[in-house]
Amino acid sequence: MSFSTTPCSSSRLPEVDFDNLGFGEQFADHMFSMDYHDGKWQPGSICPYGPISLPPSALCLHYGQSVFEGLKAYRGSDGTVRLFRPDKNYQRLARSCERLCIPVPDESVFLDALKALVQIDHEWIPHKKGQSFYLRPIIIGTEASLMVRASTTYQFMILASPVREFFDESIPAVSLKVESEYTRAAPGGMGYAKTAGNYAAALEPARRSLQSGFDQVLWLDGREHRYVEEVGQMNIFFKFKDRVVTPELRGSILPGVTRDSVITLLRQRGIQCDEQLVEIDAITAGITNGEVEEVFGTGTAAVVTPVGRLSYKDTSFELPGGHNESLARSLYNELLGIQHGELDDQYGWTTAVGVGADANNSQQAHTG
Ligand SMILES: *Cc1c(COP(=O)(O)O)cnc(C)c1O
Repeated sequence: MSFSTTPCSSSRLPEVDFDNLGFGEQFADHMFSMDYHDGKWQPGSICPYGPISLPPSALCLHYGQSVFEGLKAYRGSDGTVRLFRPDKNYQRLARSCERLCIPVPDESVFLDALKALVQIDHEWIPHKKGQSFYLRPIIIGTEASLMVRASTTYQFMILASPVREFFDESIPAVSLKVESEYTRAAPGGMGYAKTAGNYAAALEPARRSLQSGFDQVLWLDGREHRYVEEVGQMNIFFKFKDRVVTPELRGSILPGVTRDSVITLLRQRGIQCDEQLVEIDAITAGITNGEVEEVFGTGTAAVVTPVGRLSYKDTSFELPGGHNESLARSLYNELLGIQHGELDDQYGWTTAVGVGADANNSQQAHTG
């Protein structure tokens, strides 16, 4: 599929300092945009990244009808650019859309738009391993109305941003405050959808935990505050002596693509990985008696991030973090190795995108 393209008049690429990339602070020259009106998605286009125009009464601004995704393109050591499991992101976007009454765009448009953006802005894809090109699809309800109902018009955009990894040699393990008062998502709510409101609900608890010296919040279930759910941008794993445990998906947890990939990699290594209810009391007891050896989070942005400290009801529990022999570190290396084309991609997780001179002949190539 080809999209009508309006190239930018001058590239901002020379201004980018690739040695000091933040996360989502600089945006590539172009974006993808596609409107929905008259009951259908219209043809999409590639245009310069820049401000969009919305009526102040746009429904998304008032009632939060907004869903997004997050995935990355990686430039391998062989020069090939790969997307990691974009079909999984599409499936999740579709479920998020359904939860928020947003019309679902076609999968082929979603995938082709990602590829078109990677191709036009391929020079923005960092060369260093450990850096990548973050892709942020977002769909918003744009209709001008204060009626509380689903919008009849939408805008689907994809932004692209060169980013560093969160976890490298210089970044220590994160500290988590177990949140026993606030709730991120409740049964029957929209915790499984990647939608703006879930993150707004987490801002105040996150600020409080930051003020008391913690990097992030570990959420418990909304009914009893008894079972572990997730971190809010990461899913969470606990390594016991003989197995790994992660909370089962019960509707209030975001089904992470990295979570799914890590479960697969663990089982392939012959390590038992159970998706189950995880009681916070069993975790704190396990850390104290040495049964729990590691805790780590997973996410597209965070990859695999070790947890070095966990605090629950004013008691602090120390963990070994991401030392070189840790499971977190080896999973991180394996994932990055697959994403960068250095390890065999036996599950067909990566999709090569031909860029530059290769754009025309290897567009549909599948690696692995
Ligand atoms: C995006 C996200 C994750 C991680 O999902 P990935 O697909 O692995 O990036 C975990 N929790 C929440 C709430 C998220 O928004």
